[in-house]
Amino acid sequence: MYGKMQNWLAAELKSIEDAGLYKRERLITTAQGAQIKVNGTQDVLNFCANNYLGLSDNPRVIAAAKAMMDSRGYGMSSVRFICGTQDRHRDLEKAIANYFGLDDSILYVACFDANGGVFEPLFGAEDAIISDALNHASIIDGVRLSKAKRYRYANANMEELENCLKEAQAQRFRVIVTDGVFSMDGNVAPLDKICALAKRYDALVMVDESHSAGVVGKTGRGVTELYNLRGEVDIITGTLGKAFGGGCGGFTVARQEIVDLLRQRSRPYLFSNSVPPPVVGASLEVFKMLGESNELHAHLMENTAYFQEKMTAAGFDIKPSQSAILAVMLYDAKLSQVMAADLLDEGIYVTGFYYPVVPKDQARIRVQVSAAHTRAQLDQCVAAFVKIGRKHGVLK
Ligand SMILES: *Cc1c(COP(=O)(O)O)cnc(C)c1O
Repeated sequence: MYGKMQNWLAAELKSIEDAGLYKRERLITTAQGAQIKVNGTQDVLNFCANNYLGLSDNPRVIAAAKAMMDSRGYGMSSVRFICGTQDRHRDLEKAIANYFGLDDSILYVACFDANGGVFEPLFGAEDAIISDALNHASIIDGVRLSKAKRYRYANANMEELENCLKEAQAQRFRVIVTDGVFSMDGNVAPLDKICALAKRYDALVMVDESHSAGVVGKTGRGVTELYNLRGEVDIITGTLGKAFGGGCGGFTVARQEIVDLLRQRSRPYLFSNSVPPPVVGASLEVFKMLGESNELHAHLMENTAYFQEKMTAAGFDIKPSQSAILAVMLYDAKLSQVMAADLLDEGIYVTGFYYPVVPKDQARIRVQVSAAHTRAQLDQCVAAFVKIGRKHGVLK
């Protein structure tokens, strides 16, 4: 039986390869951080991790993970409604809710699961889900699992959103769903306008803060803080796998009844294990640290502004960004790959993106700044970009 399928798989793999779309993964042989070793190279500076606050190898976070593992063990071996979780899981859920200024939160093993499990229990065939076209894959998959009527508007296009809202007036409930920060451009969703439209057309609002939490807003509380809308959106999802230490885990933060119903009906929560104690211990420490001081976030903002300023002054074309994601526009697909490879030779680890990950002729190198980067490391990155940019005629 397998022979027939094996032939088909080999042909599929070859067609991916022939289209130049085969994803090859690099191997990191150190802890995640500003400076890492990749594929047996010398040390390189990492500008492509979601380690925004530099917490992935933070000593306090590591110590907290170890301490929780010593006191509460390694794993849960448990589905919550069948055999429970630890008190510390509840403490973490409260810490997350408090961070975002909403009633309560519910943990999942990944934000992919949080998004996969949020729509189906809340929105049925008589409802409407109105989604930004550039929303994360996990939102798209989550929406597919619901029977609600689906609407889609072009990225951050408020005119199209308003048209969708008008069309959806016959439905029982409407929810507008958006990423907080869009990961390829680094732009922020216009949440002020989205919330104004939601009010006018009687809709709920859901924001996925995965790339914005810890980063955007005066103290990094995300786009709801940036727009002074703390506590005013109905549902927030997010990940523990990016700014908050980068381990794993996801959450939905929402009004009390929403969280309560998700605990009853959300399938990735009901039929899956919960995050392990060391992740809970580390995450509790992260939220404690972020409550104590805004230093890491302030440093990230400073680093991002500095890097953006230096790169723009050097003559690079950077997309307007309000996050720690900076898209260095090159437009040409091949150039984005060749330049990223040359930059790696210069000790700078970045990734080039091209169609279909970004629109045709919009190829770019995406740079992700971290609070862990030193000023000298940022300068080293800019200098390498300038050298390689000149070599390829991107800079005069
Ligand atoms: C990274 C990301 C996710 C997935 O988070 P995981 O916890 O790694 O599953 C979901 N949504 C958005 C917008 C993301 O950027």
